Amino acid sequence: MEHFTSIHPYTGDPVAVYPLMSSNQVSLALSQAQWAYPEWSSSGFAERGRVLREVARLLREDKDTYAELITMEMGKIIGEARGEVEKSAWVCDYYADNAETFLQPEIIEAGYRKSLVRYEPVGAVLGIMPWNFPFWQVFRYAAPTLMAGNVTLLKHAPNVSGCSLAIAALFQKAGAPEGVFQSLIIDIPLLQMVMESGIVQAATLTGSERAGASLAALAGSQIKKTVLELGGSDPLIVLADADISQAVATAIQSRFLNAGQSCIGAKRFIVIAQVYQAFLEALQAGMDNLRTGDPRDPLTTTAPVARPDLAENLRRQWQASVQRGARLVRGGEVTGCRIKPGLLLDAVPGMPAFDEETFGPLAVLTRAADEEEAVKLANASTYGLAASIWTRDEEKGLALAGKIQSGAVFINSLVKSDPRLPFGGIKKSGYGRELGKSGIHEFVNVKTVALG
Ligand code: NAP
Repeated sequence: MEHFTSIHPYTGDPVAVYPLMSSNQVSLALSQAQWAYPEWSSSGFAERGRVLREVARLLREDKDTYAELITMEMGKIIGEARGEVEKSAWVCDYYADNAETFLQPEIIEAGYRKSLVRYEPVGAVLGIMPWNFPFWQVFRYAAPTLMAGNVTLLKHAPNVSGCSLAIAALFQKAGAPEGVFQSLIIDIPLLQMVMESGIVQAATLTGSERAGASLAALAGSQIKKTVLELGGSDPLIVLADADISQAVATAIQSRFLNAGQSCIGAKRFIVIAQVYQAFLEALQAGMDNLRTGDPRDPLTTTAPVARPDLAENLRRQWQASVQRGARLVRGGEVTGCRIKPGLLLDAVPGMPAFDEETFGPLAVLTRAADEEEAVKLANASTYGLAASIWTRDEEKGLALAGKIQSGAVFINSLVKSDPRLPFGGIKKSGYGRELGKSGIHEFVNVKTVALG
């Protein structure tokens, strides 16, 4: 392949064609990262913060243009795309404001005249990112990485190459020195050359399990650290004393946002038998309000998915689940990238809709006899990204949170990422954390200095 083509998922029309970089061009980018690193890493928090704040300002100033680009390339509804650009600006400001505090040296008494820990940058960090939140995923790793004094190279998903180049241009416009943030329009085989380079000391990947395992193996062969933010099959657990209308409203928001293509979308609704019928009826009524259509139409709630193969995979998942005893009671029809929002009942372990990540607009319901069974079902997953619990009993919610195998539990609230809170998974959802103080500590050299 010599180029990547972006295709508008709703119309099927090509948006643009992007030539792939040659190995010589990649080699030049690596040299530029090498040249940029000494100056950037010693420039200080104030200077780096100035660049990040300017990036945030430009994101807000040109929000509509960037949102349009996101919608054209991966098809999300335009209002969600604008929100994504806003949130990207927020994470830049957040780390510009807090990086220095998070990375303050710590004095530790250990019998020396003085002993301390410093947090120093490591070099260049490779970011491998997916298309589902093509701006947010990039900024949430890049803002802390750059504020810590590292430089970065971004290998984005091919269908959002326009977003990748736009973000690189944005850093340039904001005054980031050349080589601090670079976009690599490359295919997977060239990643080996990137990971073997001396300037690249770590990599972070957001994407599928398959991609994560492959990158981790490559990085491992080079003794280089990785952070992996992979898939999820988050449970939304509804207990007998839950506020059903709130639980249903959030379940619909969580599952159908971004046309179901969110790693932390609630993918398995696990509902206690006592309230199952009430939940199902409210869910059906709520789903009556979902409107599929043109992502630029303000009345559309559910956009097409990003690629036809994603739609086909969702169809395979529900069809194979039906063959094993589940019931599809609405939606699920596929035309190209368009999918009618689906509702699948009686899902149990052993069915693809329960065991695999469903990355599209499909609500999956499972009945649990009691709380103990609900927790067991929630944990019957190879994934462990996040979970939500719905109950009016806060103490019970907090106690159950301790039993759920995941990187986050939200009680009576939508699971969402927030610059201030650590984000990441366990089990096959990956390792390491992004965001908050934990996020900026992933790609630093924790250096002990002792004065005898
Ligand atoms: P994907 O196919 O894994 O692609 C993600 C990125 O990884 C792309 O840039 C892709 O490039 C690259 N990649 C693929 N194979 C690779 C390999 N062998 N070595 C190195 N890089 C490789 O995932 P996707 O379908 O685009 O994204 C959806 C997945 O991302 C879902 O599983 C979702 O849950 C997950 N996700 C997780 C989070 C989180 O924070 N945990 C957030 C958002 C999404 P190519 O396309 O060029 O192969």
